[in-house]
Amino acid sequence: EAKKNGRGRYQVFAGDMDDLLLRKQKVEAELRKALDGDGGIKLAYQPVFAVDGRRILGAEALIRWTHEVHGALPAGQFIAIAEERGLIGELGKWALTEACRFAVTTELPWIAVNISPMQLRDAGFAEQVASVLSEIGLDPARLQLETTESVLLEHNDTITSVIADLRDSGIRIVLDDFGTGYSSLSYLRRQSIDKLKIDRSFVRLLDEDKSAAAVVKALIELALALRVEVTAEGVETDGQKALLVGMGCHQLQGYLLSPPLEPGQLLALPGVSSANQERSAARA
Ligand code: C2E
Ligand code: MG
Ligand code: MG
Ligand code: MG
Repeated sequence: EAKKNGRGRYQVFAGDMDDLLLRKQKVEAELRKALDGDGGIKLAYQPVFAVDGRRILGAEALIRWTHEVHGALPAGQFIAIAEERGLIGELGKWALTEACRFAVTTELPWIAVNISPMQLRDAGFAEQVASVLSEIGLDPARLQLETTESVLLEHNDTITSVIADLRDSGIRIVLDDFGTGYSSLSYLRRQSIDKLKIDRSFVRLLDEDKSAAAVVKALIELALALRVEVTAEGVETDGQKALLVGMGCHQLQGYLLSPPLEPGQLLALPGVSSANQERSAARA
């Protein structure tokens, strides 16, 4: 029987092997149903801020699945199952389409969508993204795609050319969870990317001691040396924020500034909805 863990969240991966296999099959079937439009899958949007902590530069789409029995499931877990069961292409396309449809109704400079490294191994991926954008009418310059370092580790010509095609079309490529993988400096130079996001596990270290802070400083300096943008994720305290700004970090994201929001909540923030701007212009 599946149990809830301490935080009260349903854990797909807990329990013995037979249970695990059965549960994964069940999750797969339920995920297919949700993708067919039973309404359980949604996107939340977490804004990304300038270093003043006020100006919104863009927002990241984060998938949410509320299971009818188990409630909110951790994204990392059902995404791993989708990858394992060959559903990630479909799930990824749904998220991309949904996020772009939302972005086009806003004044947000850009929207960031997470993509699985598996999607980048599909030679048709760049074309698929281009057709979603043109159908919706979203400028490619307003789309960022976040992926993890494991992509850079692969000596894979398909991935390299898919990334090049995406960038040629004006889409920006972001390396997520930076610092947690094994990407070497030579890979970072060879694969062209536009932004690094420092993983939350490093940002958390900032509260600990000086030597831990030196690691974060080195990651930021690496980004600056590569002339790419750098975002800190998981910023939770004023102390972390002050240190990051002092180190030259460009962008901040985290609970201190804003948690992931429902679309309506994001639209209510200043500078996100054109309706808001018209209202404030009328007031002025
Ligand atoms: P990520 O892209 O690195 O996203 C950051 C995660 O940290 C999110 O968890 C976010 O809710 C959480 N977070 C943000 N600020 C804070 C903070 O200040 N403190 C703490 N403790 N956490 C914070 P979430 O939404 O559970 O997503 C987990 C991961 O699942 C994401 O990590 C991303 O890798 C993946 N993911 C989410 N949506 C998608 C998607 O549409 N497609 C794919 N392929 N992966 C996705
Ligand atoms: Mg991300
Ligand atoms: Mg991340
Ligand atoms: Mg992360």
